[in-house]
Amino acid sequence: MRYASRVQQIAGKASTAWDMHMVANQKRARGEPAILMTVGDTDFASPTPAIAAVHESLARGRTYYTPSAGGLPMREAIARRHAHQTGQRTDADQVVVTVGAQNALLTAALCLIEPGDQVLVPEPMYLTYPGTIAAAGGVTVSVRSPANNRFHPLINELEAAIGPRTRAIFLATPNNPTGAVYTMEELSGIAALCQKYDLWLVSDEVYGDLVYDGRHVSPCTLPGMSARTITINSLSKSHAMAGWRLGWMIGPPELAQCAGQLAYCSTYGIPTFLQDAAVVALDHFPDGLPELQAAYRRRRDRFCERLEAVHLLSCRRPEGGMFVMLDTRASGLSAYDFAMGLVVEEGVATLPADDFGESATGYLRINLGVPDTEIDEAALRLVRYAERLGRHRAAS
Ligand code: PMP
Repeated sequence: MRYASRVQQIAGKASTAWDMHMVANQKRARGEPAILMTVGDTDFASPTPAIAAVHESLARGRTYYTPSAGGLPMREAIARRHAHQTGQRTDADQVVVTVGAQNALLTAALCLIEPGDQVLVPEPMYLTYPGTIAAAGGVTVSVRSPANNRFHPLINELEAAIGPRTRAIFLATPNNPTGAVYTMEELSGIAALCQKYDLWLVSDEVYGDLVYDGRHVSPCTLPGMSARTITINSLSKSHAMAGWRLGWMIGPPELAQCAGQLAYCSTYGIPTFLQDAAVVALDHFPDGLPELQAAYRRRRDRFCERLEAVHLLSCRRPEGGMFVMLDTRASGLSAYDFAMGLVVEEGVATLPADDFGESATGYLRINLGVPDTEIDEAALRLVRYAERLGRHRAAS
């Protein structure tokens, strides 16, 4: 049978991520201790008021359809929260509710991109971006954010990559995997490019409430940008509600209309009782869960402190987000081989970050969403493993 060529285009590079994850799971199945720091899950439970709200909503029979773009109460709650965080007037008619931020990214791509259009993305980038852009017929043009620039974007290189088919810039601040929190200056530079070359900016802010150094800036607040920015967010990271699949996009009302039309022929809306819970979560915790933010900061500092003393490794304290980037290049191994040795010998599963883009070659991405005890144990095992590698290298 035949399939649309689109399906080939959206198939990403076979990710190596799951190799480490699988080895760790096999270890666990044999009863050996293993620590999983690969995927971006969290050990935090979803907030109790949100869980209570689902029960209550179901008990009230709130099981019917809502408008495809989301019911008014949830869109109003999102608009309230956005206004609270950005200081910008935001109306419910600028908001479309989506199935997590991922669905908002795809919806944005489908609303903006004609087949053959190019989208600039600073790399390292979140792994779904190229497939998402390709699903809309677009071509991802990646632009490096080098490690020696703290994985921050280079505005002049972004500008040099703009061509006649460039339609949009997609970015994530704080970034996954690097944790870079783009500065006001960098975002102003990007905003200037968008205005000079008439581009859309798709700003993925799912880690916006997880900032440890610097300040999160929503580019939609920059002069002239609200008309050409789509702000994407969700409850997945900030509220430990990833499996609820509650996300949204905010933009000009006409964009919201286009996105609503797509929702009408794709999701046809999200569960009503989950929307009710989202309103509760957003109103109770407009800036995310404070204990989660404190825990990630504490874990980042503890983990990196222990690894800073290790000769073969260089630990990068993330400015935001939920991942540490660990530079393993001095080991002489590829990130894949380093990570495979680490999981086989010490039962710690991490993610080689090369798949996120060339600038991340030789780095591991390490998830902080595991309990403090596992953070400490993982650091200890990593140190042991790196010291063993160092001794082998010295002996050979
Ligand atoms: N953007 C980035 C940068 C992410 O890291 C993720 C999830 N890992 C998403 C979007 C998708 O988030 P959601 O669960 O809201 O779909």
